[in-house]
Amino acid sequence: MKISNSKNIFIRKISTATKVLMSSFLLSLPTPLAKDTFTKTPQITEIIPRHIVPKLNKSLTKGLKIVENINIRGGVTHCYNDSSMLVLQKRLLNTGIKGQYTCPIDTAIKPYIPSTGQFGSIRPAGRTHLGIDIYPRLYGRKPKKPVAVVSATDGIVVSVKKSPQNDPNNLIANNIKIMAPDGKIYSYDHLGRREDYKGAKYTELKEIGSIIHAGDTLGTVGHTGETAVWHLHFSVEDLNIKKEQEHSKLWKDLHKRYSVYATPRGQIDPLDKEKAGTIADFLNLYRIDKGEKVSYYASL
Ligand SMILES: [Zn+2]
Repeated sequence: MKISNSKNIFIRKISTATKVLMSSFLLSLPTPLAKDTFTKTPQITEIIPRHIVPKLNKSLTKGLKIVENINIRGGVTHCYNDSSMLVLQKRLLNTGIKGQYTCPIDTAIKPYIPSTGQFGSIRPAGRTHLGIDIYPRLYGRKPKKPVAVVSATDGIVVSVKKSPQNDPNNLIANNIKIMAPDGKIYSYDHLGRREDYKGAKYTELKEIGSIIHAGDTLGTVGHTGETAVWHLHFSVEDLNIKKEQEHSKLWKDLHKRYSVYATPRGQIDPLDKEKAGTIADFLNLYRIDKGEKVSYYASL
Protein backbone atom coordinates (compact mmCIF):
# COMPACT_ATOMS: atom_id res chain seq x y z
CA MET A 1 0.00 0.00 0.00
CA LYS A 2 2.80 2.37 1.01
CA ILE A 3 4.76 1.56 -2.14
CA SER A 4 1.78 2.17 -4.35
CA ASN A 5 1.19 5.56 -2.68
CA SER A 6 4.77 6.71 -3.15
CA LYS A 7 4.65 5.55 -6.76
CA ASN A 8 1.57 7.68 -7.27
CA ILE A 9 3.27 10.67 -5.74
CA PHE A 10 6.30 10.08 -7.97
CA ILE A 11 4.09 9.88 -11.06
CA ARG A 12 2.30 13.02 -10.01
CA LYS A 13 5.66 14.81 -9.54
CA ILE A 14 6.83 13.69 -12.97
CA SER A 15 3.64 14.84 -14.53
CA THR A 16 3.88 18.32 -12.92
CA ALA A 17 7.48 18.65 -14.07
CA THR A 18 6.51 17.56 -17.57
CA LYS A 19 3.70 20.11 -17.62
CA VAL A 20 6.08 22.91 -16.58
CA LEU A 21 8.56 21.82 -19.25
CA MET A 22 5.82 21.63 -21.86
CA SER A 23 4.44 25.04 -21.04
CA SER A 24 7.86 26.69 -21.19
CA PHE A 25 8.43 24.94 -24.52
CA LEU A 26 5.07 26.08 -25.83
CA LEU A 27 5.62 29.62 -24.58
CA SER A 28 8.67 29.87 -26.78
CA LEU A 29 6.73 28.94 -29.92
CA PRO A 30 4.22 30.81 -32.02
CA THR A 31 1.67 28.04 -31.62
CA PRO A 32 -1.71 27.82 -33.31
CA LEU A 33 -4.14 28.03 -30.40
CA ALA A 34 -7.42 26.54 -31.39
CA LYS A 35 -8.16 22.88 -31.86
CA ASP A 36 -11.64 23.48 -33.13
CA THR A 37 -13.65 26.16 -34.93
CA PHE A 38 -15.70 28.85 -33.22
CA THR A 39 -17.66 26.22 -31.25
CA LYS A 40 -14.63 26.23 -28.97
CA THR A 41 -13.26 29.71 -28.42
CA PRO A 42 -9.46 29.73 -28.76
CA GLN A 43 -7.96 30.70 -25.42
CA ILE A 44 -4.29 31.36 -24.90
CA THR A 45 -4.87 30.46 -21.24
CA GLU A 46 -5.19 26.83 -22.33
CA ILE A 47 -1.44 26.94 -22.84
CA ILE A 48 -0.27 29.63 -20.47
CA PRO A 49 -1.28 29.19 -16.83
CA ARG A 50 -3.52 32.07 -15.73
CA HIS A 51 -1.22 33.02 -12.81
CA ILE A 52 1.57 34.10 -15.18
CA VAL A 53 -0.71 36.10 -17.50
CA PRO A 54 0.34 39.70 -16.88
CA LYS A 55 -1.84 41.80 -14.68
CA LEU A 56 -3.20 44.91 -16.30
CA ASN A 57 -5.68 46.80 -14.22
CA LYS A 58 -8.33 49.46 -14.53
CA SER A 59 -6.21 52.10 -12.74
CA LEU A 60 -4.27 52.44 -16.02
CA THR A 61 -7.31 54.13 -17.58
CA LYS A 62 -7.93 56.53 -14.67
CA GLY A 63 -8.69 60.08 -15.83
CA LEU A 64 -8.44 59.31 -19.55
CA LYS A 65 -10.78 61.33 -21.77
CA ILE A 66 -13.17 59.50 -24.10
CA VAL A 67 -14.31 61.15 -27.34
CA GLU A 68 -17.48 60.14 -29.16
CA ASN A 69 -17.43 60.55 -32.93
CA ILE A 70 -20.60 60.16 -34.95
CA ASN A 71 -19.56 59.08 -38.44
CA ILE A 72 -21.27 61.17 -41.11
CA ARG A 73 -22.23 57.94 -42.88
CA GLY A 74 -23.52 56.34 -39.66
CA GLY A 75 -21.93 54.40 -36.86
CA VAL A 76 -20.40 55.67 -33.64
CA THR A 77 -16.79 55.58 -32.49
CA HIS A 78 -15.67 55.85 -28.88
CA CYS A 79 -11.95 56.41 -28.43
CA TYR A 80 -9.51 58.13 -26.12
CA ASN A 81 -8.37 61.57 -27.22
CA ASP A 82 -4.81 62.07 -28.48
CA SER A 83 -3.33 63.23 -25.18
CA SER A 84 -5.01 60.38 -23.26
CA MET A 85 -3.54 57.89 -25.75
CA LEU A 86 -0.05 59.20 -24.95
CA VAL A 87 -0.75 59.06 -21.20
CA LEU A 88 -1.95 55.44 -21.49
CA GLN A 89 1.06 54.50 -23.63
CA LYS A 90 3.40 55.86 -20.96
CA ARG A 91 1.53 54.07 -18.16
CA LEU A 92 1.59 50.75 -20.05
CA LEU A 93 5.29 51.01 -20.82
CA ASN A 94 5.96 51.86 -17.16
CA THR A 95 4.32 48.62 -15.98
CA GLY A 96 7.29 46.75 -17.46
CA ILE A 97 4.90 43.99 -18.54
CA LYS A 98 6.12 42.18 -21.64
CA GLY A 99 2.72 40.85 -22.64
CA GLN A 100 1.67 37.82 -24.68
CA TYR A 101 1.10 37.53 -28.44
CA THR A 102 -0.82 35.21 -30.71
CA CYS A 103 -2.32 35.05 -34.20
CA PRO A 104 -5.45 37.24 -34.27
CA ILE A 105 -7.63 34.67 -35.98
CA ASP A 106 -8.70 31.10 -35.19
CA THR A 107 -5.81 29.21 -36.77
CA ALA A 108 -7.74 25.93 -36.88
CA ILE A 109 -9.38 27.11 -40.11
CA LYS A 110 -5.97 27.56 -41.79
CA PRO A 111 -6.07 31.29 -42.53
CA TYR A 112 -3.74 32.92 -45.03
CA ILE A 113 -2.40 36.33 -45.95
CA PRO A 114 -2.37 36.70 -49.74
CA SER A 115 0.32 38.72 -51.48
CA THR A 116 -2.39 41.26 -52.40
CA GLY A 117 -3.33 41.63 -48.74
CA GLN A 118 -0.01 42.84 -47.50
CA PHE A 119 1.14 46.19 -46.22
CA GLY A 120 1.93 48.40 -49.17
CA SER A 121 -0.29 46.55 -51.67
CA ILE A 122 -1.88 48.79 -54.27
CA ARG A 123 -5.53 49.73 -53.78
CA PRO A 124 -7.96 51.68 -56.05
CA ALA A 125 -6.67 55.02 -57.34
CA GLY A 126 -3.13 54.03 -56.44
CA ARG A 127 -3.47 54.31 -52.70
CA THR A 128 -1.61 52.02 -50.35
CA HIS A 129 -2.97 49.25 -48.17
CA LEU A 130 -1.92 50.20 -44.64
CA GLY A 131 -2.43 46.90 -42.85
CA ILE A 132 -2.65 43.23 -43.73
CA ASP A 133 -5.64 41.13 -44.79
CA ILE A 134 -6.11 37.70 -43.24
CA TYR A 135 -8.46 35.42 -45.18
CA PRO A 136 -10.23 32.52 -43.49
CA ARG A 137 -11.32 31.07 -46.88
CA LEU A 138 -9.87 31.25 -50.36
CA TYR A 139 -10.83 34.44 -52.29
CA GLY A 140 -12.50 35.80 -49.16
CA ARG A 141 -15.61 33.68 -49.51
CA LYS A 142 -17.95 33.63 -46.54
CA PRO A 143 -16.78 31.01 -44.00
CA LYS A 144 -19.29 28.22 -43.50
CA LYS A 145 -19.18 28.76 -39.71
CA PRO A 146 -18.34 31.92 -37.76
CA VAL A 147 -14.57 32.31 -37.44
CA ALA A 148 -13.31 33.83 -34.21
CA VAL A 149 -11.14 36.94 -34.22
CA VAL A 150 -9.07 36.96 -31.06
CA SER A 151 -6.86 39.58 -29.54
CA ALA A 152 -3.28 39.21 -30.74
CA THR A 153 -2.01 40.86 -27.56
CA ASP A 154 -2.81 41.69 -23.98
CA GLY A 155 -3.91 45.27 -23.59
CA ILE A 156 -6.63 47.85 -23.14
CA VAL A 157 -9.40 48.72 -25.60
CA VAL A 158 -8.70 52.28 -26.80
CA SER A 159 -11.24 52.62 -29.63
CA VAL A 160 -14.49 50.91 -30.63
CA LYS A 161 -16.42 51.67 -33.82
CA LYS A 162 -19.84 50.12 -34.11
CA SER A 163 -21.48 49.65 -37.46
CA PRO A 164 -25.19 50.53 -37.35
CA GLN A 165 -27.52 47.53 -37.71
CA ASN A 166 -29.27 49.17 -40.61
CA ASP A 167 -26.39 49.86 -42.98
CA PRO A 168 -27.72 48.60 -46.32
CA ASN A 169 -24.67 49.82 -48.22
CA ASN A 170 -22.38 48.19 -45.69
CA LEU A 171 -20.23 51.32 -45.43
CA ILE A 172 -19.28 51.27 -41.77
CA ALA A 173 -16.92 48.67 -40.39
CA ASN A 174 -17.03 47.21 -36.92
CA ASN A 175 -13.60 48.03 -35.55
CA ILE A 176 -11.77 47.60 -32.28
CA LYS A 177 -8.32 48.89 -31.29
CA ILE A 178 -6.24 47.64 -28.40
CA MET A 179 -3.14 49.24 -26.93
CA ALA A 180 -0.69 46.55 -25.77
CA PRO A 181 1.90 46.75 -22.98
CA ASP A 182 4.49 47.35 -25.75
CA GLY A 183 2.76 50.73 -26.34
CA LYS A 184 1.58 49.89 -29.88
CA ILE A 185 -2.04 49.90 -31.03
CA TYR A 186 -3.41 46.76 -32.68
CA SER A 187 -6.50 47.28 -34.85
CA TYR A 188 -9.11 44.73 -35.99
CA ASP A 189 -11.37 45.75 -38.87
CA HIS A 190 -14.47 44.51 -40.76
CA LEU A 191 -15.66 42.47 -37.74
CA GLY A 192 -18.92 40.61 -38.26
CA ARG A 193 -22.50 41.41 -37.30
CA ARG A 194 -24.89 39.30 -35.26
CA GLU A 195 -27.06 38.68 -38.34
CA ASP A 196 -24.16 37.13 -40.32
CA TYR A 197 -24.91 33.67 -38.89
CA LYS A 198 -28.44 33.04 -37.67
CA GLY A 199 -28.59 31.25 -34.32
CA ALA A 200 -24.81 31.24 -33.83
CA LYS A 201 -23.06 32.57 -30.76
CA TYR A 202 -22.16 36.24 -31.23
CA THR A 203 -19.60 38.22 -29.23
CA GLU A 204 -20.56 41.86 -28.68
CA LEU A 205 -17.75 44.37 -29.27
CA LYS A 206 -15.92 45.17 -26.04
CA GLU A 207 -16.33 48.54 -24.36
CA ILE A 208 -13.60 51.15 -24.34
CA GLY A 209 -11.28 50.69 -21.34
CA SER A 210 -11.81 46.90 -21.18
CA ILE A 211 -8.80 44.84 -20.11
CA ILE A 212 -7.96 42.19 -22.71
CA HIS A 213 -5.68 39.16 -22.74
CA ALA A 214 -4.11 37.65 -25.84
CA GLY A 215 -6.48 35.00 -27.15
CA ASP A 216 -9.68 36.67 -25.86
CA THR A 217 -12.44 36.63 -28.46
CA LEU A 218 -13.11 40.07 -29.93
CA GLY A 219 -15.69 39.08 -32.54
CA THR A 220 -15.96 37.15 -35.78
CA VAL A 221 -14.51 37.59 -39.25
CA GLY A 222 -17.02 39.69 -41.17
CA HIS A 223 -17.29 41.95 -44.19
CA THR A 224 -18.56 45.18 -42.60
CA GLY A 225 -17.30 48.42 -44.12
CA GLU A 226 -15.90 48.95 -47.55
CA THR A 227 -15.13 45.41 -48.55
CA ALA A 228 -16.84 42.73 -50.56
CA VAL A 229 -14.86 39.85 -49.07
CA TRP A 230 -14.84 38.16 -45.68
CA HIS A 231 -11.55 38.86 -43.98
CA LEU A 232 -9.82 40.48 -41.06
CA HIS A 233 -7.97 43.69 -41.82
CA PHE A 234 -5.32 43.85 -39.12
CA SER A 235 -3.07 46.82 -38.56
CA VAL A 236 -0.44 48.00 -36.11
CA GLU A 237 0.03 51.65 -35.17
CA ASP A 238 2.93 53.23 -33.34
CA LEU A 239 2.34 56.67 -31.82
CA ASN A 240 6.04 57.56 -32.17
CA ILE A 241 5.88 56.88 -35.92
CA LYS A 242 2.63 58.88 -36.06
CA LYS A 243 4.52 61.98 -34.93
CA GLU A 244 7.06 61.49 -37.74
CA GLN A 245 4.33 60.89 -40.33
CA GLU A 246 2.46 64.05 -39.33
CA HIS A 247 5.55 66.10 -40.15
CA SER A 248 6.37 64.27 -43.36
CA LYS A 249 5.69 65.89 -46.74
CA LEU A 250 4.94 62.51 -48.28
CA TRP A 251 2.20 61.80 -45.76
CA LYS A 252 0.78 65.32 -46.12
CA ASP A 253 0.52 64.79 -49.89
CA LEU A 254 -0.95 61.32 -49.46
CA HIS A 255 -3.57 62.57 -47.02
CA LYS A 256 -4.49 65.41 -49.38
CA ARG A 257 -5.00 62.93 -52.22
CA TYR A 258 -6.57 59.98 -50.42
CA SER A 259 -8.17 61.67 -47.38
CA VAL A 260 -9.31 59.10 -44.76
CA TYR A 261 -7.50 56.31 -46.62
CA ALA A 262 -4.15 57.92 -45.79
CA THR A 263 -4.54 59.47 -42.37
CA PRO A 264 -1.23 59.30 -40.49
CA ARG A 265 -1.79 57.08 -37.48
CA GLY A 266 1.68 55.58 -37.21
CA GLN A 267 0.83 52.58 -39.38
CA ILE A 268 3.63 50.06 -39.62
CA ASP A 269 3.94 46.75 -41.47
CA PRO A 270 2.72 44.01 -39.08
CA LEU A 271 4.90 41.47 -40.95
CA ASP A 272 8.08 43.48 -40.43
CA LYS A 273 9.75 42.04 -37.33
CA GLU A 274 12.07 45.00 -36.93
CA LYS A 275 9.21 47.50 -36.85
CA ALA A 276 6.28 45.52 -35.47
CA GLY A 277 8.17 43.22 -33.10
CA THR A 278 6.96 39.85 -31.78
CA ILE A 279 3.59 39.84 -33.55
CA ALA A 280 5.43 39.46 -36.89
CA ASP A 281 6.56 35.95 -35.82
CA PHE A 282 2.96 34.81 -35.49
CA LEU A 283 1.69 36.46 -38.67
CA ASN A 284 4.51 35.42 -40.99
CA LEU A 285 3.42 31.79 -40.53
CA TYR A 286 0.33 32.55 -42.61
CA ARG A 287 1.67 34.57 -45.53
CA ILE A 288 1.62 32.61 -48.76
CA ASP A 289 4.05 34.52 -50.95
CA LYS A 290 7.16 33.59 -48.99
CA GLY A 291 8.54 30.42 -47.51
CA GLU A 292 6.32 27.47 -46.90
CA LYS A 293 2.83 27.71 -48.35
CA VAL A 294 -0.16 27.27 -46.11
CA SER A 295 -2.26 24.35 -47.35
CA TYR A 296 -5.62 26.09 -47.25
CA TYR A 297 -7.10 24.20 -50.19
CA ALA A 298 -8.26 21.39 -47.90
CA SER A 299 -10.75 23.70 -46.20
CA LEU A 300 -12.58 24.76 -49.36
ZN1 LIG B 1 -7.20 45.39 -45.69
